[in-house]
Amino acid sequence: MLRSELVAARDALLKRAALHATDYLEAILSRRVSPHPSAVAGLPALRTPLPAGPTDPETVLRLLADVGSPATVANGGGRYFGFVNGGCLPAAMAAGWLVTAWDQNAAFWVQSPTAVALEETALDWVRELLGLPDGTGGAVVTGATMANLSALAAARHSLLDRAGWDVEANGLFGAPEIQVVVGDEVHPSLLKSLGILGLGRNRVVRVPVDSQGRMRADALPPLDNRTILCLQAGNVNTGAFDPAADICRHAHTAGAWIHVDGAFGLWASVSPEYQHLTQGFELADSWATDAHKWPNIGYDCGIALVRNPEALRFAMSVRAPYLAATEQHREPNDFSPELSRRARGVELWAGLRSLGRAGMAAIVDRTCGHARRFADGLRAAGFEILNEVVLNQVLVSFGKPERTLQIIAHLQSEGVCWCGSTVWQGRTAMRISVSSWATTQDDVDRSLAAMLRAAN
Ligand SMILES: *Cc1c(COP(=O)(O)O)cnc(C)c1O
Repeated sequence: MLRSELVAARDALLKRAALHATDYLEAILSRRVSPHPSAVAGLPALRTPLPAGPTDPETVLRLLADVGSPATVANGGGRYFGFVNGGCLPAAMAAGWLVTAWDQNAAFWVQSPTAVALEETALDWVRELLGLPDGTGGAVVTGATMANLSALAAARHSLLDRAGWDVEANGLFGAPEIQVVVGDEVHPSLLKSLGILGLGRNRVVRVPVDSQGRMRADALPPLDNRTILCLQAGNVNTGAFDPAADICRHAHTAGAWIHVDGAFGLWASVSPEYQHLTQGFELADSWATDAHKWPNIGYDCGIALVRNPEALRFAMSVRAPYLAATEQHREPNDFSPELSRRARGVELWAGLRSLGRAGMAAIVDRTCGHARRFADGLRAAGFEILNEVVLNQVLVSFGKPERTLQIIAHLQSEGVCWCGSTVWQGRTAMRISVSSWATTQDDVDRSLAAMLRAAN
């Protein structure tokens, strides 16, 4: 093909992809939320042997649209209440298309001044939205798991450096011991991060929690300057926050490093109505959060923040003669666990640019209001709400565990909405997490009606 023919074919392909995308987004508003079993049964059509030769890109795209799209879960549609999954804001989605066209490697400034500038600005905005101290720096990573890992690597560096041990150079064998303290309701992915860092998933002191899953400040073990204390802002089941204000001053006096897992909860600090929940967390040394949860930025977008970014730099930076780092600019490579990386800070910038502070606060307020509406409706129908609905999470029991699980299965297969199950302090429950910017009151009322139909 001539160059001009290649360009024309590519343009046509991209326009077709945009049409498939907008058709898809329209379809999921009325489509069932979970994919129909027949759509899932069609997936083997994509699982062919590796083709020996090329396929026309139009055919490739059509396969995705015809076979892939129907078997997706419609979590962008407003009636998906599983895990803590949002949708994707239009500005972030559109920016994502452009990022793909730009095809930047966001490791170093010389590779993409645009990506580095946007990422740096977005990190500043996040710091400001979360009410964290000036000078805090960090990295845009793939999710809260990697954000926890990155921040805890900075903590590990800092504590061992203080003890005269260079952990990056010498590893952990023979190093002074570090104590890690977590609440008993710690997210399992934080334990995974500790495991990857050589600090151990089980080699932790677990602090007892109260009925909402909050760490009990009166039950803390002795803390010292070889302690990493992990607090949680937003429990995935109840939405509850550890009492940071009661804990942080004491922990700092003892010399401990305080890390906060605030994957979704930290964003409550943007809302005048809910920011009291996040009080005290700004006193910590490091924070992990997700922009693909409450801010609805789209996957994958986690953020690690460290009060003293130099600690993160020591943990992450690599240098080689061919890696052209500059001194004048912030080099993402110095702070992130990856080297080559997608310019995911661009979507973060675009989403936050489109929302502004008020837009982000409105998502928090609206989704928390929807959660209360679910709780009120279910309670009025005689069902037990197991948590204090302080945020966007609701736990409901429909009676015996088998019955609750049956109702959840029915709801999922009927497809009006989607909720998952959990076990909260020994009791089986349905989890409702309202995290999407796209959820309307009509979505809530239709979903509530579906829940009550399934339950009766
Ligand atoms: C979601 C979540 C995580 C894990 O985040 P990923 O982005 O899925 O890696 C960790 N901690 C808490 C509290 C969460 O809600």
